[in-house]
Amino acid sequence: DVQSRRNVNFEDYCLRRELLMGIFEKGFEKPSPIQEEAIPVALTGKDVLARAKNGTGKTASFVIPVLEKVRTDVAAIQALLMVPTRELALQTAQVTKELGKHISGLEVMVTTGGTTLRDDIMRLMNPVHILVCTPGRVVDLASKGNAKLDKCAIIVLDEADKLLSPEFTQLMEDTYRFLPQNRQSLLFSATFPVTVKDFADKFMRNPFEINLMEELTLKGVTQYYAFVEERQKIHCLNTLFNKLQINQSIIFCNSVNRVELLAKKITQLGYSCYYIHARMQQQHRNRVFHDFRQGNCRNLVCSDLITRGIDIQAVNVVINFDFPKNSETYLHRIGRSGRFGHLGLAINFVTYDDRYNVYRIEQELDTEIKAIPADIDPELY
Ligand code: ADP
Ligand code: MG
Repeated sequence: DVQSRRNVNFEDYCLRRELLMGIFEKGFEKPSPIQEEAIPVALTGKDVLARAKNGTGKTASFVIPVLEKVRTDVAAIQALLMVPTRELALQTAQVTKELGKHISGLEVMVTTGGTTLRDDIMRLMNPVHILVCTPGRVVDLASKGNAKLDKCAIIVLDEADKLLSPEFTQLMEDTYRFLPQNRQSLLFSATFPVTVKDFADKFMRNPFEINLMEELTLKGVTQYYAFVEERQKIHCLNTLFNKLQINQSIIFCNSVNRVELLAKKITQLGYSCYYIHARMQQQHRNRVFHDFRQGNCRNLVCSDLITRGIDIQAVNVVINFDFPKNSETYLHRIGRSGRFGHLGLAINFVTYDDRYNVYRIEQELDTEIKAIPADIDPELY
């Protein structure tokens, strides 16, 4: 997925030198296909509607054009990077800071719910060039006049389908009201339901459409199912832990209560395990997530909270302890271990009630979920 097709280099975009330095220091040698398509168009100022699967480098596709355009001698918010979750906001800000490391005076700020509004207001009294945020808080800050968006020439919607789902649509429309008329919109997502199309028609101007989906799906991920009864699940998991060569794993449950319960059981079995779910305090969530990423713990149990766009390269096994209800969730959960050409293993616990869902998801994603063999080839992950 990282292979550039036309042998284009980052040097070819005539980027500022400080930015090129940041790109190379981050270890990026050549643009990935989505970057190759999106960066030059975004640099021209055109609106972009881009679709590419998870792990293909969408973040840098918008962060690079944003960093190229931002002027640190202008003390104003010039770009708004919108993401659906707090975790993703922190990750996106981190990537922006790393790529922009050599741009002197660059100020990147994160604002999300779950932190004190007053701290954000104080922070906004000093210059901010790029604001990374979730939908709610920014509308708050803009309507009170704390965040001035009249010079914000670029708005990015990452995971646009999620940002434009019913729970957020109104907030997104409200956000747009604070932006200047001549703004540029960049929308990125792995899936584009009609809600995205509707929004694009309403708020974007003749967007340039990029679609890299057909060549990219669950490549590199070997998917198995184990047909189990609910009460056998723990036992099966224990067997897998013994048999598999897990570097790091993510284990998904369908509810907050089940996340906590399972984490407790895994710990009782003697395995190291963190858990994370939507009802935990934000600070706590951040810490767990950070520690897991650092490799302090081998297994992470979670609800669908972190399934979207989060990138942890060390994860080579994903287990659906509870089988997901739809193919979109399935894709987002499993997409994890196959990121950037790395191989991965996905194991699905399937109960009698899930049996039709498996079939449907296979059909919808045009993929194959095979019965788990007695021995799994370690070369596959
Ligand atoms: P997406 O948003 O499409 O799911 P990310 O932006 O999170 O993907 O990128 C996935 C991983 O690929 C990250 O670890 C990122 O650092 C890496 N990556 C992105 N672009 C490149 C590149 N041009 N060369 C090498 N690695 C890259
Ligand atoms: Mg992403």
